[in-house]
Amino acid sequence: MNSAQSSGLSRASSSVTFKFNMMRSAPLVAALLLASLAAISQSTSQPAVTQAVLAGRLIDVRTGQVRTHAYILIAGDRVQAIADSAPAGVPVTDLSAYTVLPGLIDAHGHILSDPTTQNFASHLRTSIPQATVWGVYNLRLWLDHGFTSLRDACEGPADYPQFALRESVRRGIILGPRITAAGSCVSIAGGHGDGSPLSPDLALPRGPNVADTVDDIAHVVRRDIKYGADWIKLMATGGVMDPISDYHVQELSEEQMAAAVELAHRAGKKVMAHAEGAVGIKAAVRAGVDSIEHGTMLDEEGARLMEEHNTWLVPTLYCFQHDMETGLTKGRDPASFAKGQEIMAAQGPAFKLALAHHIRIVYGVDDADVDESVSKEFGALVRGGLSPLGALQAATINAAAMLGKDKDVGTLEPGRYADMVAVEGDPLSDITLMEHVAFVMQGGRIVKDPAHPGNYPVIRVK
Ligand SMILES: [Zn+2]
Repeated sequence: MNSAQSSGLSRASSSVTFKFNMMRSAPLVAALLLASLAAISQSTSQPAVTQAVLAGRLIDVRTGQVRTHAYILIAGDRVQAIADSAPAGVPVTDLSAYTVLPGLIDAHGHILSDPTTQNFASHLRTSIPQATVWGVYNLRLWLDHGFTSLRDACEGPADYPQFALRESVRRGIILGPRITAAGSCVSIAGGHGDGSPLSPDLALPRGPNVADTVDDIAHVVRRDIKYGADWIKLMATGGVMDPISDYHVQELSEEQMAAAVELAHRAGKKVMAHAEGAVGIKAAVRAGVDSIEHGTMLDEEGARLMEEHNTWLVPTLYCFQHDMETGLTKGRDPASFAKGQEIMAAQGPAFKLALAHHIRIVYGVDDADVDESVSKEFGALVRGGLSPLGALQAATINAAAMLGKDKDVGTLEPGRYADMVAVEGDPLSDITLMEHVAFVMQGGRIVKDPAHPGNYPVIRVK
């Protein structure tokens, strides 16, 4: 809408200049000028409002201010205005009993995950078509919980099903959040993104995501970009969920990560780094990555570095906590579970350090069980010391800014997509109300409606 308007304006004004230069007849010029001005005013007139949503309470996530009895006026798939009334004859969705907020953003998902297992060998028995179908299933659940945008934080299959899912959502073939996607999980051999559990004589072929040198990483990054990555995902340290790597240990070298950042940024892409141990966090930040994922063992020096570099933090607090409850019940490897238990002690102090250094926090879940977990990071962030408004900002304006999508999503301001959720009660006083999203709209299309629950079925496998 905006680009069409501005190109209309520039066409009109250039035709005025042309006519001034070419014709000297004053009355004719005046007539043409009037005609051009009429064309300008026509091209800036707003498109017709197609529907409205009446919000009992509308939270401005920038300020925390609440407007009551507000009409969100929608033209097509975008917000046109927030007003005290709706134009006559326009259909109105009545959410006067609810609090309305912008659509939510989960900035750390793994779309293809099978929610029924944590067995590290399960991917050996899961075909890529099966994993892709899990993706379709998971995307619908994200949307049902109010997450209208999502960043995928890397996937295993070498042929990038996440890009196919991204395009399928964009074209309306399947329902799901608007997807921004990383490519492969870029890792050293034997690192967090290369945890083949097989013995050496049965080892899987080396994956195209494996990079042991600076030259290797250039190749991997260019392959990801070639096939459609929006983000590059680097494994800066070992991790928890695989039974092999050591999360204290830095994996990719600082030189490798700096090379990846240089290549990605030159191509207009961003870089996220999985980083748990303090040494790897600092190396990734110095290398210039845009976001640190987890940051579980962040220390004082690392927090200062992140503050200096303005690096985003996606702390993914809840998934670690949830894993303690799940234990070994989903086939998790005991060695992996032991790592999870050990790292829990670091999480709270690291997050407090991040808040003390005013590091910008973004909402990310990183839990394969989307239905169970996707809304529970709100509570974890607030228990960890963030304000309820801060937690809402993490999932809206902060996430949108990190993704570079803040002209499209993250607020309900004019020009943004009509992506919104509604909850009962006041999430600014009880953030856990965000676990019970009652209404979801994406791009002006209702996908969950308490007045018509049967119209929006969601499949759930337990
Ligand atoms: Zn992850």
